Amino acid sequence: MITSTYDGSSLHRSFGIDLGEIDMGAVESMGVGAAWGKVSPGRHSDPHQHDETETFVIVSGRGDLVVDARRTPVSPGMVLQFEPFETHYLDNTGTADLVFATFYWRDAPRASRAAATTVRRRFGDRPVFVFSTPPTPNGGLHIGHLSGPYLGTDVFVRFQKMIGANVWHLAGTDDFQSYVAECARREGRAPAEVAAHYAAEIAETLALMDIEPDQITHTSRDERYQRALRAFFSRLVDSGRVTRQEGAALFDGETGQYLYEPDVSGGCPTCGTGTGGNICEQCGEPNFCVDLAEPHPTSGSAQPRAGVIDRYTLPLHELRADVLEHHHVGRAPARLRELAHRVFRRERVDVALTHPSSWGVLPTQQDVPGQVIWVWIELAFGFIYGIESLGRTLGIDWRADAPQDDWKIVHFLGYDNTFYHSILSPALYKIASPGWTPDVDYNVNEFYLLDGDKFSTSRRHVIWGKDILSSESVDGIRFYLAQTRPETGRTNFTLAEYETVVQETLVGTWQRWLNDLGSRVERRYGGTVPDAGIWTPEHTAFLAALENRLGAMAACLGPDGFSLNRAAETLHGIVQDTLRFARFESAAADIEDWNDETRTAIALELAAAKLLAACAAPVMPRFAARLAAALGITPPAQWPALVTLVPPGTQVDLARQVFFGPPPEPWAPPAPLLSCLSELVREALRLPEGEQVADTTLVALGIKSMQAIALQYQILERTGADVSVEDLLGERTVGQLATFLSDGTALSDGTALPDGTALPDGTALPDGTALPGSRAPERAEVVGA
Ligand SMILES: [Zn+2]
Repeated sequence: MITSTYDGSSLHRSFGIDLGEIDMGAVESMGVGAAWGKVSPGRHSDPHQHDETETFVIVSGRGDLVVDARRTPVSPGMVLQFEPFETHYLDNTGTADLVFATFYWRDAPRASRAAATTVRRRFGDRPVFVFSTPPTPNGGLHIGHLSGPYLGTDVFVRFQKMIGANVWHLAGTDDFQSYVAECARREGRAPAEVAAHYAAEIAETLALMDIEPDQITHTSRDERYQRALRAFFSRLVDSGRVTRQEGAALFDGETGQYLYEPDVSGGCPTCGTGTGGNICEQCGEPNFCVDLAEPHPTSGSAQPRAGVIDRYTLPLHELRADVLEHHHVGRAPARLRELAHRVFRRERVDVALTHPSSWGVLPTQQDVPGQVIWVWIELAFGFIYGIESLGRTLGIDWRADAPQDDWKIVHFLGYDNTFYHSILSPALYKIASPGWTPDVDYNVNEFYLLDGDKFSTSRRHVIWGKDILSSESVDGIRFYLAQTRPETGRTNFTLAEYETVVQETLVGTWQRWLNDLGSRVERRYGGTVPDAGIWTPEHTAFLAALENRLGAMAACLGPDGFSLNRAAETLHGIVQDTLRFARFESAAADIEDWNDETRTAIALELAAAKLLAACAAPVMPRFAARLAAALGITPPAQWPALVTLVPPGTQVDLARQVFFGPPPEPWAPPAPLLSCLSELVREALRLPEGEQVADTTLVALGIKSMQAIALQYQILERTGADVSVEDLLGERTVGQLATFLSDGTALSDGTALPDGTALPDGTALPDGTALPGSRAPERAEVVGA
């Protein structure tokens, strides 16, 4: 006999608690491990997961066992067992030590079963809040944005809805970003107006992409939000962790203006890459502007100077253990954990939480005049506020100031936001709501490139969603983005490759198969689904292959292994498997003796089409609904548990369906230039609609230089023509400017024209005059067309 008696004096630190060995001798040889455990009052063990099945026997003390966010009170005499991979920890809520014995062993079939039931694992019946990163309303959404958080969230939520989860897509706009104020200065408008304008454009693009969030917060237009944000900030300050502190900051060398975020750029102090203020897109690490290498202001040319300023500041390094523990609770991809490791390797990470700005929410605290609450606090708060707002519309009492452990939060974000989402936000939650254990899954995407280069609005290296999306193209775009979005590293979009995928994969393979299948059903069975007859071994094997595809699809749409790259691959795999099967079967298809086998083969091909409709529903909802309609079945609303046949006798209409339209022209040519330019001039100068401006110069119309800069930007934005402010303020009438632009002469790289070249209006340039402007004339041809 072996005995082991609990000895509180011979314990060692492990998993955040005190553990003592139990030598089980013979039992151990059967693969059962055992240990004593002790959790001190007010402490808890580290949340973790493993493949072993584990049993706790509670010996003394009181507390809660938390398994996948479900709390169970425990007391002496209780035995508790949990399944492989369940996230679990013991929380001592009592006043005495919580002592328990644990026994754990590997049960391979049990672990495999648990890993394979990806569908509801971890989420159970909890409310699931899925957030797409709130976009900054300083521009529309381009396909780089769309491929990342927005498509990811939409597909994730659609799948969760199909499996019956309580799930919602929460979105919003991050109105108080300094980038909105910067855009407002550029466009000569008020920041609130800019935010509203682009919020509308963003909503329009999301709708074109078939993305419909369940809840949207516009932070600058929500009074209740701003009050609640102030209260959240006050909780941070009241905790004593966030205090007013003097810290180094960067100021404009000439005007003394405080420089941060878009005001400044320089070399990242960590990786050296050129970056803007506060975050480096390359390595993901924060900077504090004053530590940038060779900082330079975005406007003006004076050398910035370092100074000091009092701001509310968080010593983030003090929350290192809390943030790292948080990453053990939900899904925290390796790239994210590695970033956290790097950030917390620093001795101190003092993060200013207020900044001097005229755009943002003022804190209740009056001792930092002219400073607003940093917008990245809004990010953290905005999520839980979004949950409260959603609750209000559903009649559920979810409160931002009392977040719940059973909330399952899922984030979709780009790597450049990882620091804010997964390091700063959990630290703020720990301070504002210390009793809350946020359970968050992070889905991080990398950069999507366009023709091998970063998307850039200022360089016009961009394809806007609204320019390429239509009811005909949306499924093709969603499929191509799913297939190529940057999940494990940078990937690349090219228009040519997208068109090839639509033509060869979707039209040339999927649609051709479906049309052909429809023709065969018409020819043999008058357009109705035949009943399966005799099954050959190959038929059975094909059904099994389809079942495998269904399982694979659930695995890549489920929360553990979510991947749209693999989802797109699996969808195409269904079609490829079926084409291979159909080719095999075709040899005997017209032999009368084998009719009963042939109708089984056709019924199975139709079952494959039905499976394709169900599996495609989260990824390509429009295609899925149309395919289901063509198969005579209801649109897929529930995730299928099995591959099933289309009911025999159903009328199908597949033969002539056009599921994937030809790709639209990526850019519509601008409206005739003069009317477009006249409209822009009227907008810039706030002239009445329809007022004729063609025969007048802009100076005569009273244009100011700020308005000219805004107009210059608008012309670039709308027509692609890069005209200099000097030209706008020159002697050309608006009509002559239109001709000037349409000729492409305005678009110049600074090279000299040949001697005496005549400009469109007939005036000759002096010898060797260089044309103004240095930006590349990317779209000159389109303007002239
Ligand atoms: Zn960097």
